[in-house]
Amino acid sequence: MAVCELLSVGTELLLGDILNTNAQYLSQRLAQMGISVLHQTTVGDNPERLAAAVGTALSRSDIVIATGGLGPTPDDITAEICCREFGFELEFDSGTADKITSYFKNKGMEMPQSNLKQAYVPAGGTILENTHGTAPGMGMKKGGKCIVLLPGPPYEMREIFENKVVDYLSEYRSGAIVSHEVRTIGISESGLAEEFRDLIDGSNPTVAPYCKIGEAFLRVTAKADTPEEAEKMTAGVIAQIKEKIGRYIYGIDCKNIEDAIVPMLKKAGLTLATAESCTAGLVAKRITDIPGASSVFRHGVITYANEVKERELGVSHETLERFGAVSEETAVEMAKGIRRRSGADIGISVTGFAGPDADEEGKAPGLIYIALDSADVTRCEKIETGRNDRDYNRYTAASRALNLVKKYLTTEL
Ligand code: AMP
Ligand code: MG
Repeated sequence: MAVCELLSVGTELLLGDILNTNAQYLSQRLAQMGISVLHQTTVGDNPERLAAAVGTALSRSDIVIATGGLGPTPDDITAEICCREFGFELEFDSGTADKITSYFKNKGMEMPQSNLKQAYVPAGGTILENTHGTAPGMGMKKGGKCIVLLPGPPYEMREIFENKVVDYLSEYRSGAIVSHEVRTIGISESGLAEEFRDLIDGSNPTVAPYCKIGEAFLRVTAKADTPEEAEKMTAGVIAQIKEKIGRYIYGIDCKNIEDAIVPMLKKAGLTLATAESCTAGLVAKRITDIPGASSVFRHGVITYANEVKERELGVSHETLERFGAVSEETAVEMAKGIRRRSGADIGISVTGFAGPDADEEGKAPGLIYIALDSADVTRCEKIETGRNDRDYNRYTAASRALNLVKKYLTTEL
């Protein structure tokens, strides 16, 4: 299998001003093409260090893909250094110069003379045309090795990669890698690791657990000669995972829980309304982040103060006095209240202590109640995150509330 190294060039990356999304994108795409990325190197706009990085990359990889540093300014040195290290000369290409000139003309802008620096391309190399900007991509091949240079702006980089580089690298492709993400709520990363120790120890498909605020995932990746074969291999493993922990799974390859439940609600023809205290609208926000949410989301209220819970939702004064705002009783009355008042099929409520400090009664941050009310089911779940991180607690509470809807829709309640 061909080995590739990604070289991300730009001092802004080292300073942490820009997130290196190019490396993420390229790594994912190359994996799908059956090309192994074994190193990702980031280097600033410095000639000596860039030259050293190119030399190292060429010594251990078949393909080097550099992004960034192809601009017209003096700190853009990627083409010059890479050509020198790989033994290519830069030469002026009048065709590229014409394209750059008309790019500016079409935009009604004056072209700075410095932009013609971008018309210098490796003699004997390949120009990888950029239809979205001025700097073209470039490819050089020699002695079985290959260097590809791409501009830094992610939009331009992706366009050139998809339209030109995929073909340019065709001789290096071998087989296919297919990867899927099984997303869960309600089981921890270590819980998954324990449950699937055998699968995790396997080498093809590989199974790896990950976690993200209140959720855990399993990434299942298979390598095979064809994408179809690789798909089949992952499908077998995903079926095993579903059999064991199906009740925790909210989706495969979906972005988040809201992405999964909005289509489910649509399919079931059901509507939802929310009454939120500690999440202050986060549940409603996350549902309405999904295009088309208007057909399933009716109504959301933020009832932070106790008297608002009484006035807007009909939570009884006695319940609040006796059990407190953060209690199963209050959560249930909130869910019932919002369902009744909105006319939605499902009412969801959240009430809890987001932290970071303990509340006046000494109850720990991260204690949250979520409730669901429908015509046939009323349920409340208690969550204790054990964390004093306000963002974490609020996000987790919203995810778990959305997950309660998923459980209802899959008749697990
Ligand atoms: P450059 O081609 O070096 O002039 O980069 C132009 C712009 O592209 C930079 O200012 C960044 O905003 C963006 N950029 C460069 N490299 C990357 C990268 N690895 N990931 C994401 N954005 C990048
Ligand atoms: Mg740069």
